[in-house]
Amino acid sequence: MLCLPLSRNYFTAYCLLPSAYYFMNKLTIKDLDLAGKRVFIRVDFNVPLKDGKVEEDTRIRGALPTINYATQQGARVILASHLGRPKGERNDEFSLHPVAAHLSEVLGKPVEFAEDCVGDAVKAKVDALKDGDVLLLENLRFHKEEEANDDGFAKQLAELCDGLYVNDAFGAAHRAHASTAGITKHVARAAAGLLMERELNYLTKATTNPKRPFVAILGGAKVSDKIDVINALIDRKVDKLLIGGAMAYTFFKAEGFTVGKSLVENDKLDLAREIKRRAEEKGVELLLPTDHQVVDSYDPLNSRKTIPIEFTNAGLVGLDIGAETAKLFADALQGAQTIIWNGPMGVFEEKGFDEGTIAIAKAVADAADAGATVIVGGGDSVSALTQAGVAERITHVSTGGGATLEFLAGEELPGVTALSDK
Ligand code: AMP
Repeated sequence: MLCLPLSRNYFTAYCLLPSAYYFMNKLTIKDLDLAGKRVFIRVDFNVPLKDGKVEEDTRIRGALPTINYATQQGARVILASHLGRPKGERNDEFSLHPVAAHLSEVLGKPVEFAEDCVGDAVKAKVDALKDGDVLLLENLRFHKEEEANDDGFAKQLAELCDGLYVNDAFGAAHRAHASTAGITKHVARAAAGLLMERELNYLTKATTNPKRPFVAILGGAKVSDKIDVINALIDRKVDKLLIGGAMAYTFFKAEGFTVGKSLVENDKLDLAREIKRRAEEKGVELLLPTDHQVVDSYDPLNSRKTIPIEFTNAGLVGLDIGAETAKLFADALQGAQTIIWNGPMGVFEEKGFDEGTIAIAKAVADAADAGATVIVGGGDSVSALTQAGVAERITHVSTGGGATLEFLAGEELPGVTALSDK
């Protein structure tokens, strides 16, 4: 159902999210005539590196359909990405060099590498490309102009190609940077890549008249980071909203529970009460943990135990949901037809406090096996799927965390808005 563009609230409440609406009219790579042309493809190769090697390559593999399509069409492919936060300066720790080697392996063909992303040496590499060749540029964020969406820099990037630009970096689509937004002003045609299209299609399908019960699971550090998405999910009347991770403590404190030294946003207590009230008003079942894994703040290494939330005393720090909560959340997924999960249930990075997140990974995989459409986004949640060995069972593992959240919150994604209309 496509609604007339009445008002933003109308979109959010009744039909397509605005973020989905803006996408429907955009060019995709299939609309471009690529043969013999130099095409600039913004990919998201922001992957973890260890000892000079790619540690986890979901995002690289995610871009393969677009790269293969472009090379099969006879395009001369220029790939560009950011990696990490080098803060506008060249820093070998964040070089994409290891990614070029890895890409060449998974692509099954040579990948040229340019030591920078703009300048004469890069132009020379681009000029040497033949039809079907692939060149990866060095980290865009070695230039501070990238994140500043500097117009001159965007123009320099655009000049590398023959007026054809593709954005396949869904994970960066919520950022208006030179390579995701500014560049589109300097090319003839700016289109979505196949991964971008797939990500947006899944999110659109899941949020436009979702099959019910529709359950959202949110975790992570802060309520304030996720307030827009929580509100949008409540507005769209998810049937159940499960909240874990440190976020839950702000709700508990707002209710008058002792949360000890657990992470709390003290200035967001009213907000937590308001969310609870709105959920009740809209008939959304809001589930919070009933038990958690805590450590004693005086002896964190040796004091790990699982206790009911109400037994928390002033010296304790909650670091993960407990087994009872994992079961409560898994039970809440029984019979669900649409599930969206973003954010860890605990301090996932620390061994022992990843158990709750792994349990949720298994529970959403079981729900997918039982027929639910399951979309998982966010680095920790996606790692949990891989660690639990269940990633293959998930309907759609998103390459974007922040972008998924902004889409679900109904925000326009600048990297999508900037693409050419059909
Ligand atoms: P986010 O980026 O908002 O998804 O939050 C992810 C972060 O939340 C991870 O680094 C987790 O370590 C952190 N986190 C989750 N649960 C807790 C908790 N109970 N206490 C402290 N940090 C947590």
